[in-house]
Amino acid sequence: MEARNTENSRYGKLASANPPPDSGFITATRRTSRERVVIVGCGFGGLFAAKLLRHADVDVTVIDRTNHHLFQPLLYQVATGILSEGDIAPPIRDILRDQQNASVVFGEIVDVDLESRRVIVDTLGFRSEIQYGSLIVATGASQSYFGNPEFAHDAPGMKTIDDALELRGRIFGAFEMAEREPDPAARRRWLTFVVVGAGPTGVEVAGQLAELSRHSLRRNFRNIDPAEARIVLLGSAPTVLPGFPESLRERALRDLQKMGVDVYVDTRVTRVDERGLATNSADPQLQWIEAAVKFWAAGVQASPLGRRLAEAAGAKVDRAGRVEVEPDCTLPHYPEVFVIGDLMSLDDLPGVAQVAIQSGCHAARTIVRRIAGDNTRKPFRYRDRGTMATISRLRAIAAIGPLRVSGFPAWLLWLLVHLAALTGFKNRLSVLFNWGIAFLSQGRPQRVATAQQVFGRYALEVQAAAARRSGQIGLFVGWDSIESNRKAEPRTPAEGLPKASGPPVWKLRNDAF
Ligand SMILES: Cc1cc2nc3c(=O)[nH]c(=O)nc-3n(C[C@H](O)[C@H](O)[C@H](O)COP(=O)(O)OP(=O)(O)OC[C@H]3O[C@@H](n4cnc5c(N)ncnc54)[C@H](O)[C@@H]3O)c2cc1C
Repeated sequence: MEARNTENSRYGKLASANPPPDSGFITATRRTSRERVVIVGCGFGGLFAAKLLRHADVDVTVIDRTNHHLFQPLLYQVATGILSEGDIAPPIRDILRDQQNASVVFGEIVDVDLESRRVIVDTLGFRSEIQYGSLIVATGASQSYFGNPEFAHDAPGMKTIDDALELRGRIFGAFEMAEREPDPAARRRWLTFVVVGAGPTGVEVAGQLAELSRHSLRRNFRNIDPAEARIVLLGSAPTVLPGFPESLRERALRDLQKMGVDVYVDTRVTRVDERGLATNSADPQLQWIEAAVKFWAAGVQASPLGRRLAEAAGAKVDRAGRVEVEPDCTLPHYPEVFVIGDLMSLDDLPGVAQVAIQSGCHAARTIVRRIAGDNTRKPFRYRDRGTMATISRLRAIAAIGPLRVSGFPAWLLWLLVHLAALTGFKNRLSVLFNWGIAFLSQGRPQRVATAQQVFGRYALEVQAAAARRSGQIGLFVGWDSIESNRKAEPRTPAEGLPKASGPPVWKLRNDAF
């Protein structure tokens, strides 16, 4: 009770807090006498919080290290050529252009000073500090390789547009390489695709790969039959889609098998390299799988900012690095700081869009109430609206309360829900158009794959690592996210150009960069 009173008195101080006078640092925001709410991360949580503050008597500053709001659930459709990256990633500035109390800052938050209530922003080496009255941290999560970050080189995950385009380049590039490959064993390797992780993303990618190879690429090649591609889905749990009801899991498994996907559960990956991957399976056929394209959809690790915040506040993080928050989504001892969405650990809530949206709205509503003089701290209550996953064109599963839907009706439901959830009318229209082409004709309207997509990241990794060694970190800080996802050092920094650590025989030209 004592602690609560102390915390409430902080609110009193906060409500009247003015920003301190300029002290030499660069402020990237307009100055007013109103409280400033800083929102770090404009994913689902951050964006919904910002929008809910539209009519509040506050200044809202939204900071993100990308210039777009990403609709992650459709990333796999960018990777497999159904949608373009613009369809699912509208510019943050455009979304908030009519919200007069909101401004946008492009940059990565590299630190938070909880005592002086400032965040440190790095915009490609240009540092600034921004004062906050309230802070909402919504920096999400990235891929986890369970202590094997080096797997990321050969089995990239999918959390960003960069990831999806790189994967698109690898997928379509593998078919091209197979077409030119005279050796049958090597051709087989190019045409083997392994998806690690049998949750919704893994199932969706495997389903799309099957559809792409069996239908969309028909008659596109002269030396290979794309339909001969082998699609392998590996899961470490005893079943596919572990979070779904049993009847739907069985239906999904049957659908995948009908489409020719080889599904193996209870199987852990123990090693990944350019040529393939090893597993702990007792089946000799599975102990080593020769495969050019590997995709990782197996684990989630919270953004590193969470750990930094927790250390500063004396809070705990869970195994995935998510911050253990108070019931009202605030950081322990700092009621003006909210941690929401994938970065928050509360009541075992899953890392899904609805949790991010609802916790973002909860944080914004708490701030609005406080501005109006009501300091009560209401606990966050999550309303589960159900869960769904697509398996392929015309096939999906959905569990909404007691309702279980599968097949075509679930797929229609999935289409409607995702179309409604997309931000912006233009994006909905363009997605609808691309879906029309992809689902009616089984075509893939977005197949552009460039060398930059496939190799550009390696070049950036090499440059960032070299810059770090020579102390020029600032110049490349914008690529920190790439490096923090990958963690492992690039393999051939000495030559200044990356080795082809993706699928084998990806040729790098010296003039490619
Ligand atoms: C491939 C994929 C498919 C998914 N499918 C589904 C699905 O079908 N249904 C579902 O409910 N959920 C799905 N999810 C999960 C859902 O997308 C997440 O739960 C949700 O995006 C979390 O929202 P968030 O706001 O917490 O974080 P995010 O949406 O991840 O947003 C985080 C934002 O923070 C920014 N950021 C990160 N670090 C910094 C920093 N240091 N400084 C500044 N900005 C930073 C990022 O650029 C990003 O914009 C999927 C996720 C993925 C990756």
